[in-house]
Amino acid sequence: MTAPSGGELRASIAELLDAAPSEITDGADLLDLGLDSIRLMTLVQRWRDQGIEIDFESLAECPTVENWERVLAARAKPEPVLLTVRRVEELTPRTVRVTFGGGRVDAFAAAEPGGSVTLLLPAEDGIGGDEQPRRYAARYCAEPAELDVEMVVHDAGPGGRWAGRARPGTQVRVGGPHPAAAVPAAAQLLVAVDETGLPALAHRLEALAAGTRVDAVVEVPDAAEERDLATPADLRVHWLHRNNGAAIPPAALPTADVAWVAGAATFTAKWQAALPAARCVTETYRTDGANGPDGPGEGQESHFQAL
Ligand SMILES: Cc1cc2nc3c(=O)[nH]c(=O)nc-3n(C[C@H](O)[C@H](O)[C@H](O)COP(=O)(O)OP(=O)(O)OC[C@H]3O[C@@H](n4cnc5c(N)ncnc54)[C@H](O)[C@@H]3O)c2cc1C
Repeated sequence: MTAPSGGELRASIAELLDAAPSEITDGADLLDLGLDSIRLMTLVQRWRDQGIEIDFESLAECPTVENWERVLAARAKPEPVLLTVRRVEELTPRTVRVTFGGGRVDAFAAAEPGGSVTLLLPAEDGIGGDEQPRRYAARYCAEPAELDVEMVVHDAGPGGRWAGRARPGTQVRVGGPHPAAAVPAAAQLLVAVDETGLPALAHRLEALAAGTRVDAVVEVPDAAEERDLATPADLRVHWLHRNNGAAIPPAALPTADVAWVAGAATFTAKWQAALPAARCVTETYRTDGANGPDGPGEGQESHFQAL
């Protein structure tokens, strides 16, 4: 689904107001022009029927054509695109980087650092059951046009198994790109991620300004899962290893205005509460059926101590 252009928006509004499209200027307040809540709801319903996830409040907040064009573009869900795997690289014993290319891979050119895509994984029953949508952080590269995802390989779910089977030539439908959670810019940033949040961290780090101080707590199953992280920022990584049990948190972290936390549900809950930051942006990336291939099982807690 593509969002309506400014011209299409003006035409729809003009029709409802029984006015000429030229009377609907980009910055004019549409409520002042006579677009009451009933007419606005008519537009909301029309765009929802076209597959755009829009609500009344988001449009009523700032009722101008130029704002609606931006809001609708952000909410329109592009059609999934069939992509072909070009390469599969083993980054660590449990993580692979899958690189897609060819075809319509440029549909992901707007992918943001920390943003994601949806892999619509084919049914594993071999008889054409439903596709399984799974989200992964994604990095777009323009030259050559390619899209990378970095996936934890495990046996507990379709995503982990697909990652283990992907080979050059494997095809999958991919939706998105989905925007990144907004982490306010700050001179000093605290981060806590597990292995599922590590790819998004790697992408965000590459885009940070030189001189930004980042203290990142990264919890992985064991030391073999550590990897190099390239960044112009001033980065300190505190690697934590579960080693089939509980990861031991660092003794202390500096305080900061902003923190970003991403990972499994129990991981994000404990770090959201513990990071010494005034504002924490939290993204829960998965449930905790197992906290990693070798981690504590459902209901078990790491022996975490607040910093
Ligand atoms: C915005 C966003 C970005 C993400 N980015 C990444 C990414 O870059 N790389 C990445 O690997 N994951 C990422 N994830 C997490 C990924 O979507 C989940 O791990 C997802 O559950 C994997 O699907 P699955 O089919 O393997 O397992 P599911 O079918 O979802 O779950 C089945 C079982 O597998 C367990 N499970 C799920 N993931 C793991 C795992 N990693 N290790 C061990 N057990 C697991 C579940 O707890 C459950 O018990 C992201 C999630 C979101 C929302």
